[in-house]
Amino acid sequence: MDTPDITPIRPRRIVVVGGGIAGAETALTLAIGLPDAAVTLVGRWPSFRMLPDLVYVPFDVSPRRIDVPLSTLLPHGVSSVQATVERVDVATKTIHTSAGELAYDELIVAPGAEPREHSNQSLRTLDDAIRVRQQLARIVREARAGERRTITLRAESDDSWTAPACEFALLLGAWLRSLRLDHLVETLFVTSDSNAFEWFGPIGETIVEGAMRRARVQVATDVPVGRFDALDGDLVVEFGALRPRTIDGVPGPGPSGWYEPDAAFRLAPHVFCIGDAVNLPYRAGFATAWQARRVLEELGGDLGRIGPHIDGIPTDAVEYQMDLADGVLRARVTAGDSLSHPFLGHDADITVVAGSRPDKLRGLLVHDRVLRWEVGTYDAALAYRDLLRGVEVA
Ligand SMILES: Cc1cc2nc3c(=O)[nH]c(=O)nc-3n(C[C@H](O)[C@H](O)[C@H](O)COP(=O)(O)OP(=O)(O)OC[C@H]3O[C@@H](n4cnc5c(N)ncnc54)[C@H](O)[C@@H]3O)c2cc1C
Repeated sequence: MDTPDITPIRPRRIVVVGGGIAGAETALTLAIGLPDAAVTLVGRWPSFRMLPDLVYVPFDVSPRRIDVPLSTLLPHGVSSVQATVERVDVATKTIHTSAGELAYDELIVAPGAEPREHSNQSLRTLDDAIRVRQQLARIVREARAGERRTITLRAESDDSWTAPACEFALLLGAWLRSLRLDHLVETLFVTSDSNAFEWFGPIGETIVEGAMRRARVQVATDVPVGRFDALDGDLVVEFGALRPRTIDGVPGPGPSGWYEPDAAFRLAPHVFCIGDAVNLPYRAGFATAWQARRVLEELGGDLGRIGPHIDGIPTDAVEYQMDLADGVLRARVTAGDSLSHPFLGHDADITVVAGSRPDKLRGLLVHDRVLRWEVGTYDAALAYRDLLRGVEVA
């Protein structure tokens, strides 16, 4: 009798490059929504970094509170490889990394963005945050010796999202007040927009303007970027002017200077790009949830497998939370995919929870399945509040 011809069926190999929020959220979404696939996340470091919580590090909050090991994704079906991707060969579907070659059937790149060259300090990386911390320590010393100082935060709105700048201004103002130095150190927030925070319509504007007043932050609006230098300070922190990190062999970036995928985030057959590296009118961690879900649908995955709600938020919605220092602004956008529209969220449902602390990234799978179960990490907002009350934290 002839033996039957058995062809082994191997799982579809999905490789996600980039150990940031976008990479982690996409890897998790695909592993859950496509349970027969083999999902691998390639990241440079053994942890993924919660960039939204970087705003707390300049206030002596330990960086270990913002890093989460990649291995926490393994129980959810995501294997990880610690390596730098040096080049992708889309013709042979091979990824060349510092740790060897990887073959893929579907590739999703999420390399993020970085500041373009400028002469001032930025707040984009851990090194940046540590440098700002050192500068703040100097300014506090000088103010305690009776010197007047100004800290200027500049938010350029062309290709970055101004919310982190706003939030950092509020946290800084409240921190200086808690040190009783707000009469000697002025916090100045400079923006080219027509008000301090214009992303979520008039209600969002009013809430943030009120919080700026309570935190004693001076706001200069409608300042053309070319005139930013006229508003100087003893410490200047620049938020804006970004460019994508690029990966050799991945098609693009396009004429905008950013990766320009189609509506399903596809750059080329079997190659997708999501997260901060994409040409979208804002760059935000919370928004990576619907980007990941769009890729899942495109790969034939089942959205039903991730459930109708995540963290109590319907899966067709996303939520942004801004730390107001003395409360939280929550903006929920019900049609997540409308985020591709430049007039983001004018129909957002806005609430303020006074006295609360933010639960940033709520509504993301990475938050629901991983972050909220981690002990001793992802608690930077809590540590910041302890600092305001004079409690020593590490
Ligand atoms: C100070 C600050 C505060 C913020 N606050 C908020 C907030 O409150 N809420 C919110 O929703 N968003 C916030 N954001 C925005 C949010 O953090 C970003 O939108 C989000 O982190 C983007 O995720 P990403 O994965 O696309 O990029 P990244 O987080 O930059 O991650 C990309 C990763 O890819 C890696 N990588 C790049 N190239 C390679 C390669 N060749 N090989 C291997 N790895 C590679 C990088 O090392 C990096 O780890 C904030 C951002 C900042 C800077």
